[in-house]
Amino acid sequence: MEAADQTVICELLAVDLSDDCYRVCSRCERVLPGDYNNGVSSSSFSSLFRFCNSKEPKLLYLILISIATETTVKTVICFDRAATLLFGCSADEFFHFTKLNPLTATMVSQVFDGEMLSLG
Ligand SMILES: [Zn+2]
Repeated sequence: MEAADQTVICELLAVDLSDDCYRVCSRCERVLPGDYNNGVSSSSFSSLFRFCNSKEPKLLYLILISIATETTVKTVICFDRAATLLFGCSADEFFHFTKLNPLTATMVSQVFDGEMLSLG
């Protein structure tokens, strides 16, 4: 009999943190344009929030991870909810931390190299 749940025990081979986050509106979760990440003028900033008048962007994780199961190696996209569990902090917190500590992304990749995961 096969197990009813779809939990797969796998080995985490790599975490791609080069483009690890994207920004959404904290209220309506509309995805904000990529150039917002590089800083924009106040005029275009306000136009981003014309839909709901929110002034609070927030970061969400979007991480590519390579995993190996007993039979295959594949790359999966790790979205915000799973990544928050994986890293134990929100994308905002993680982003601030990596800005203060530029080596963090490299360290995280090393820490997770070979980590066993349970994806269910
Ligand atoms: Zn909004």
